[in-house]
Amino acid sequence: MKEILNFINGEFIGSASGKTFENRNPVDNSLIGMVSEAGAVEVDKAVAAARAALHGPWGKLSVNERVNMLDAVAGEINRRFDDFLQAEVADTGKPIHLASHVDIPRGAANFKIFADTIKNAATESFSMTTPDGRTALSYAVRVPRGVIAVVCPWNLPLLLMTWKVGPALACGNTVVVKPSEETPSTATLLGEVMNKVGVPPGVYNVVHGFGPNSAGAFLTSHQGVNGITFTGETRTGTAIMKAGAEGIRPVSLELGGKNAAFVFADCDFGVAVDTVTRSVFENCGQVCLGTERVYVERPIFERFVAALKEKAEGMKPGRPADPDTKIGPLVSQEHRQKVLSYYRKAVEEGATVVTGGGIPDMPGELSAGAWVQPTIWTGLPETAAVVREEIFGPCCHIQPFDTEEEAIRMGNDTPYGLATSIYTQDLSRASRMAQRIEVGLCWINSWFLRDLRTAFGGSKQSGIGREGGVHSLEFYTELRNVMTKF
Ligand code: NAD
Repeated sequence: MKEILNFINGEFIGSASGKTFENRNPVDNSLIGMVSEAGAVEVDKAVAAARAALHGPWGKLSVNERVNMLDAVAGEINRRFDDFLQAEVADTGKPIHLASHVDIPRGAANFKIFADTIKNAATESFSMTTPDGRTALSYAVRVPRGVIAVVCPWNLPLLLMTWKVGPALACGNTVVVKPSEETPSTATLLGEVMNKVGVPPGVYNVVHGFGPNSAGAFLTSHQGVNGITFTGETRTGTAIMKAGAEGIRPVSLELGGKNAAFVFADCDFGVAVDTVTRSVFENCGQVCLGTERVYVERPIFERFVAALKEKAEGMKPGRPADPDTKIGPLVSQEHRQKVLSYYRKAVEEGATVVTGGGIPDMPGELSAGAWVQPTIWTGLPETAAVVREEIFGPCCHIQPFDTEEEAIRMGNDTPYGLATSIYTQDLSRASRMAQRIEVGLCWINSWFLRDLRTAFGGSKQSGIGREGGVHSLEFYTELRNVMTKF
């Protein structure tokens, strides 16, 4: 039986209370191992270790030495690529071809990209004349914020965790990570990597557990933490912001979405269908940037619905290692209950179920997994729950529109503002739409295409702050102004 331990001050440790919880594989509900649940004692130890490390050898490294160490972390993740891949796939059930192209390579790249960013980040300087006719020169320096709490979701566990840990460490901070209770494995494995490449003890710590009354809440309310970076649901973000308020600790929040795609009649039809297929169904719909609302210009509405239906019905569910597998299960039985409740609600609200709506027939032990059918609805009003609320499953509602203005109005009628994608060959129209759709990320004739130097984040209730490239430095450093009179 695998034991998944906390990683504190360079050591793998259980919890003083002896509390553990199960980690299950969503493909067949088999038990992967038991996870040690950190209590207040372990969280306290981890924060103390992180604080001590700030003032130890880590804090004395030059930027170049730190950056070389992060390059070595990326190298070691790549050397142990298969270990990370197997761990991530067991925790999430996602197809191996997806995890091996997205999750693990990006997990490693996140250390390299921020190592490069910090080496090249400039700060401002100003010169002025003083009232007595002399000169004063101001320059800014970036200093680490301190101990950073990193609270992560389960949909892209290694990728989203390193997207925070990479810049936090590049900027000279130390971290305490609280991975999702659903996906504890790769964060733990990263502890081995840190030790192997010589990252000093206490720089990277991992505490396992849940949110309220568990490791998540203990960590975010801990007054030894100087900043909290969180990716997850908007409701949890609200609790985390409240925790941050105590002690005036800044928060960086990447939250939920109810992202719209707009398909105009003049689009490249094949590109639109293929890309919307990915944005709705990839990772079994468990991507924060994924599309759950599709607005299609009326002349091509029927044709588009038929084409997406055909694609959805071609998404073969199966084992992660099977090269024919197009879609994995949801992350857990609990999440499946939530998604299926929306499948039922759509019918109750009068949706036309174009395809799916239930559980696929899976053979043998797979029948115990967290599978759901890719699902498409039409015919609902914009007020319906499945059109308004984030489901986080492989499903979408498709709505026709007649004018650009109407499409924008429906698109913006949501409390969320994470991402959108627009399909048209008229780039003037696409640019107009990009100005008016209230989101942090807009794709034109594409989706999930990322340049890691660009700003990433949501507006409205989808988040606070931007990550990526130099934008990550805003949260992971404090800008100190130094003025010299001479
Ligand atoms: P979640 O909010 O349920 O949990 C995220 C993490 O927060 C977990 O580690 C959990 O244990 C912890 N947590 C829960 N309650 C807490 C509390 N009160 N205090 C401290 N920690 C707490 O989210 P999830 O279900 O793991 O992930 C799915 C959600 O994440 C979706 O809403 C999705 O849109 C969002 N997401 C957003 C982005 C983005 O970049 N904007 C990226 C990925 C996922």
